[in-house]
Amino acid sequence: MLRINAGRLHRRLDDLAQIGALEDGGVRRLAFSDADRAGRDFVEEWMRDLGLTIHVDALGNIAGVRDGAEDGPAVWIGSHTDSVGRAGRFDGTLGVLAALEAVQTLDDEGVTTRRPVGVVSFVNEEGNRYAPGMMGSTYVADMISLEDARAATGTDGSTLGDELDRTGMAGSDNLRALPVHAFVELHIEQGPVLEGEGTTIGVVESVQGITWHQFTLAGESNHAGVTPMDTRRDAGYVAVAIATHVRQLGQTIERQRATVGALSVEPGFTNIIPDEALLRVDLRNPDADRLNEARERLIEFAEMAASGEHVGLTHEQLSWIDPVQFNAEVVGAVESAADALGYSHRRMVSGAGHDAQQMAAVAPSAMIFVPSVGGISHNPDEFTRPEDVEAGANVLLHAMLQLAEKA
Ligand SMILES: [Zn+2]
Repeated sequence: MLRINAGRLHRRLDDLAQIGALEDGGVRRLAFSDADRAGRDFVEEWMRDLGLTIHVDALGNIAGVRDGAEDGPAVWIGSHTDSVGRAGRFDGTLGVLAALEAVQTLDDEGVTTRRPVGVVSFVNEEGNRYAPGMMGSTYVADMISLEDARAATGTDGSTLGDELDRTGMAGSDNLRALPVHAFVELHIEQGPVLEGEGTTIGVVESVQGITWHQFTLAGESNHAGVTPMDTRRDAGYVAVAIATHVRQLGQTIERQRATVGALSVEPGFTNIIPDEALLRVDLRNPDADRLNEARERLIEFAEMAASGEHVGLTHEQLSWIDPVQFNAEVVGAVESAADALGYSHRRMVSGAGHDAQQMAAVAPSAMIFVPSVGGISHNPDEFTRPEDVEAGANVLLHAMLQLAEKA
């Protein structure tokens, strides 16, 4: 059975980790920074060495296509090489470099596929500098306009379009026009499940839906000692009651994740009843109906808690992203590849968002997960064992071969 060259893949991972390297071993390649551009160039150079036909679109997404015996839709494999501010070296980069390694393996072994194979690297997956995340794949899926993407304001006050022009990352090709037969993304799990079970490969069949909510509470500041309990309009108290309810949603709705990620009260003195509070809630569920139930119960409770305390409530839904069910055939290709290679595997839901969920709107898609040691990610300590990196790349190779078919 065909196998990737693990030594070569690890050398490339080491090389790319030098670009935007942090002193403590992590990396920082924020979208549309000089380091991001350098990382993109590294990928493009390998694509050129492989003789791929390179396409770069107006947002900087890059696809390198290897001809098949027949023209027509290509099997795409890849991920992203941008990173969060203090990142590890595997998030995203593994999916891109393993895709290039898989293509080089086809060259080494003289394999021609019936369908073309495209290696893709999406821009701004992390959304750390410019929201929203998964921007590159969202753009390829025609779900965000170039104007809206370019207008994004960075956390550093910059404008995306200016940085795109400054770094020269944009090209004149249109990735939306390239026909895609299927998409497979290899990624680190970023969670503890695979390592905890001792399983090598996660066959990802869905990505949970996400919805974000912001509540602003307006009460009345008053003296903590003098104001009777039954006349208070305590915005902080209501905020904490909502936060407690959020935890209950996560405990009573099947497969629900529920988090209060931001909570603040004003004026923030020990002896003053807070007159203002803000909280932001993150709800996730792989099932859209359950996610909606969680959202409705949250809003209903917040209204009840606020009116019970005579506190004003402003609610804003910041986002709603539908859960994505991956394509059965592509999921099956990943599963049978893992099986044929003799790796332990299990089906799973992705807890984080990924480019593949946007690509699912373009073509049948699925993902491969490999274990993250300690479930740690978005951290310089992020680590995936060499044998798991190799296993993931081999599964990617064989899932791609199954979808592209040997000529
Ligand atoms: Zn990622």
